[in-house]
Amino acid sequence: MEYPSNFIKTIMENDLESKKHTKIITRFPPEPNGFLHIGHARAVITNFELANAFNGYTNLRYDDTNPEKEDDIYVKSIAEDIEWLGYTPKEVYFASDYFDEMYERAILLIKKGLAYVDDTSATLMAIERGDVNKPGVNSKYRNRSIEENLELFNKMKDGHFKEGECVLRAKIDMASPNMNLRDPAIYRINNASHHRQGSKWVIYPMYDFAHPLEDAIEGITHSLCSLEFEDHRPLYDWVVRECEMPNIPRQIEFGRLSIENTVMSKRYLRTLVESKIVSGWDDPRMPTLQGLRRRGYTKESIKNFIFSSGLSKINSTISNDMLDSALRDDLATKAKRVMAIIDPLKVTITNYEENKIEYLEAAYNNDNEELGTRKIPFSRNLYIEKDDFLVEKPDKKYKRLSLNDEVRLFHAYFIKCNEVVYDDYGKIKEILCTYDPLTKSGSGFNERKPNGTIHFVSADECEKATFNIFGPLVNNDSLAPLLERINKDSLIVKKGFVEASIKNAVPFDKFQFIRDGFYCVDIKSNESNLIFNKTVSLKSSFK
Ligand code: ATP
Ligand code: MG
Repeated sequence: MEYPSNFIKTIMENDLESKKHTKIITRFPPEPNGFLHIGHARAVITNFELANAFNGYTNLRYDDTNPEKEDDIYVKSIAEDIEWLGYTPKEVYFASDYFDEMYERAILLIKKGLAYVDDTSATLMAIERGDVNKPGVNSKYRNRSIEENLELFNKMKDGHFKEGECVLRAKIDMASPNMNLRDPAIYRINNASHHRQGSKWVIYPMYDFAHPLEDAIEGITHSLCSLEFEDHRPLYDWVVRECEMPNIPRQIEFGRLSIENTVMSKRYLRTLVESKIVSGWDDPRMPTLQGLRRRGYTKESIKNFIFSSGLSKINSTISNDMLDSALRDDLATKAKRVMAIIDPLKVTITNYEENKIEYLEAAYNNDNEELGTRKIPFSRNLYIEKDDFLVEKPDKKYKRLSLNDEVRLFHAYFIKCNEVVYDDYGKIKEILCTYDPLTKSGSGFNERKPNGTIHFVSADECEKATFNIFGPLVNNDSLAPLLERINKDSLIVKKGFVEASIKNAVPFDKFQFIRDGFYCVDIKSNESNLIFNKTVSLKSSFK
């Protein structure tokens, strides 16, 4: 699938045609304070695909200007995710590597009379800023001399002040209708240890000051970001201009991607991890790229989904179904189709010889010959799904097995149920059936039509398996806080069996368990304990 056209692509085309630029250079600038989620995938894919479309390139830049929540485990996971999506950054940078240059640019602003140190308390500063209907008022420190500001800023850097005691502010316009231009803070004091710089710095640049400088330093031509930064753009341009940066990047905003019934912001995802509601950032229920991958989503399905969801200047909320149908399309031919019994009911074929096993050959996937064939064991002891048996046939449309009735077993024979065996509590323990040797699959037998076709595994030759079946992490039917909306049944664990042919399956292998859904081998699975994560049902559950 080719990357579709969109408004940013058009801007880039024009910029190349008018020779404003000779190369398109973009960047993906995540803050390393969490794992990437499917929303970030839109930003990753957009940046890389657009640059690739014009033979340009994309940098990966960790926007690590907040020391508190940043950590190297996030740096590592982000790099893995981008690689998994199939992209290679031209360069990998850390915004913190530019701290010296940023500091110099702040000094330049002070020297031009465009920045000042302000000791006003945060509370008073908020009042003085005014609001959309009320212009702000100047701080009483706004007219400090350049010399005094240079000295105070130097003292800030050298640790003479406590956190929150003062900030460096850009001197722009306290009456601007754009709140972002009312003398925004550009440096603050923070004593937390930085994941790369340690305790070298106690002052940190604010996002709105740092980001344009980072882009300009790297020679980024088009700085793509999400819509919430639209009214920060005048400040972005002001910083680049007044800091006299030689390269002038252009900020372009696009709509954020949300998915129905899916909590996506890092803050919430972090809460789920920290409160141990999920097993980690890569829990298969998480909308993180690592969670989706572990659950069985393919990069192709994610890319197709992002491509077909389009890109515009409005935030969009897209139904989960669209991602799932991209996934089903991708897996339909890729996955081996095999039989698994998730909720087993024991079946004894009373007219089949004991200790005999025969092997029935079948293709793994009729729509993809390349996947080859395997041999399916058939024997006296079998398992079928509990759901596929009812003592009494409820109506004519019932297509499964019931007492005194006949059904076809996939790739095998017709079986007829003759007796139901109950345990002491009156629950069904097993069923006794007979098979008809004339009805072997492929024999052309057509004298009777069975009720329907169900799947099975041989109990004499199969593999034990654990199945993780997922539901939404949070219920979305109220406005209650996240932790009150947690779905307690978002993980259901089932113990059953899979056919012996997939005994050597390894993490990330994908299967279609026929009549049920797509599954992916979990990272904790091994030969003695096969674990499958249910990726998605075969049919959409969407009504
Ligand atoms: P979150 O809201 O999840 O905490 P963030 O915007 O704080 O995300 P960053 O690490 O700053 O996360 O994001 C890196 C880039 O990804 C930014 O350019 C941001 O605009 C983009 N991005 C994040 N979430 C989305 C989304 N849902 N849709 C599109 N782009 C996104
Ligand atoms: Mg952010």
